Amino acid sequence: MQLDPLILGLLAVFVVLMIYTLLSFFTTRKQPAIPPKILTKIACISGNYSEVREFREGDYVGKEVGKCPKCGAPLLIVAVYSEIVRQGGKEASARS
Ligand SMILES: [Zn+2]
Repeated sequence: MQLDPLILGLLAVFVVLMIYTLLSFFTTRKQPAIPPKILTKIACISGNYSEVREFREGDYVGKEVGKCPKCGAPLLIVAVYSEIVRQGGKEASARS
């Protein structure tokens, strides 16, 4: 059996490629894809009641979604926004 320099070179290239692939694999999956949470804010037009719930299909700002439990006035959607979900307090610690 002979190991000529060409095969050794190919092996070296292969190993380097493997390491590079593994490294890029680990560095690109530092951020698990969390879909942003979309919230809908609802408020009574009299201003004495408001709540925030999860966005539902068909929600839009200005839509009437019910009656105020306090005063019976219409409840309107006043805002639709997304909330960035953070994963339990690990911020910028693993970088040197
Ligand atoms: Zn009200």
